Amino acid sequence: MSPAQASAIAASPRDGALEVLRERGQREVFCGLTGIVWLHRKMQDAFFLVVGSRTCAHLLQSAAGVMIFAEPRFATAIIEERDLAGMADCHAELDRVVERLLARRPEIRTLFLVGSCPSEVIKLDLGNAAQRIGARHLKGENGSEGVRILAYSGSGIETTFTEGEDACLTTLVPEMPAEAPGAAQSLVMVGTLPDIVEDQFLRLFAELGITNVGVLPARRAGALPVVGPNTRYLLAQPFLGETARALEDRGAVRIDAPFPFGADGTAAWLSAAAAAFGIDEMHVNRVIAPGRERAKRALERYRPALEGKRITFLPDSQLEIPLARFLATELGMIPVEVGTPYLHRAHLAADLARLPEGTRISEGQDVERQLDRVRADRPDLTVCGLGLANPLEAEGLSTKWSIELVFSPVHGFDQAGDLAELFARPLRRRDVLRI
Ligand code: SF4
Repeated sequence: MSPAQASAIAASPRDGALEVLRERGQREVFCGLTGIVWLHRKMQDAFFLVVGSRTCAHLLQSAAGVMIFAEPRFATAIIEERDLAGMADCHAELDRVVERLLARRPEIRTLFLVGSCPSEVIKLDLGNAAQRIGARHLKGENGSEGVRILAYSGSGIETTFTEGEDACLTTLVPEMPAEAPGAAQSLVMVGTLPDIVEDQFLRLFAELGITNVGVLPARRAGALPVVGPNTRYLLAQPFLGETARALEDRGAVRIDAPFPFGADGTAAWLSAAAAAFGIDEMHVNRVIAPGRERAKRALERYRPALEGKRITFLPDSQLEIPLARFLATELGMIPVEVGTPYLHRAHLAADLARLPEGTRISEGQDVERQLDRVRADRPDLTVCGLGLANPLEAEGLSTKWSIELVFSPVHGFDQAGDLAELFARPLRRRDVLRI
């Protein structure tokens, strides 16, 4: 895109009277348990114990793929029929399972009890269980560090896919140490990113001159960042509404920015943080210029394949709006419909403002009606879950599996090209097959 086009897009913000199609009906989405797959990789001394059914265990096994053979730090305590019939004391049984687990895995520093549909339906109070068991593990043996026990819900009744991460991080916020009175301004980057991407961002913050930087979730239980009125937080993921609210309850203030996808998105995200810390603009431009240029060059390779192509997103992860913004403003794609399971207007304001006029935005899902719209629109590419991809391909529509966008490193300058590649690949494959 030429600079003139870029500024034209930036200068035509959609106003507050944004029209959103709201739908409720049959949905084709994951439940929040799926978040465990990436959360457990990030928090290296945490364990996730799902209290659920065999269905939940199957879901985790299939989502985690081959990882289940690598002694992962998650498991399912299966609620048996005896428990469901109220014949067993679920709490006593859970206590036994947890004690056995902690004895066998002494390296665990945080244990999450993760609620599921069955545990919620039988009203098993996991918050209470976490408190009760946690009290026994405040200090480890011989005065060593104890185990923190927390509970959240990843059930399909309450959470959709990435909302599981939001629920998990929300429980960590009260555990963050309070900042000292009169402490210098600090920055917390919020949202799970692959280590390699996190390290790139931390390096850039250091070069910008922001030195006091913490990350939520931290890689280790003992490394939770401090929080208080001098904390500024920057969301790296768009699905963290409850975590943000919990941080604000503790005095932290959000830095408003588009999400760090692509060359311009990442530059705007870093610049917003720098502005909040009063860093000189010239210095900011000097620091981010090389990465931004690298990203722009990487994106140029994909422009011929993507420019002018029409794309529809079905709701899945809440990443849809920032990704549509990236594809439209940095690669010239045309978003037709952008569906999201939940729209947080404030957190997405900067990305929404950059979406082209006429983009149809939908929140929630009534899958049959949405598929009818896809068939009527016939976009060049439809981003959707695994359950819908093959049927749509059979109807001659090219698809991109949305789950890859959550599992792959896609944020930041050095991943911009890889992100574009994820969208270009299915189109290329379609062209090759056609020949
Ligand atoms: S939707 Fe409910 S029952 Fe199904 S896997 Fe998720 S938590 Fe378990």
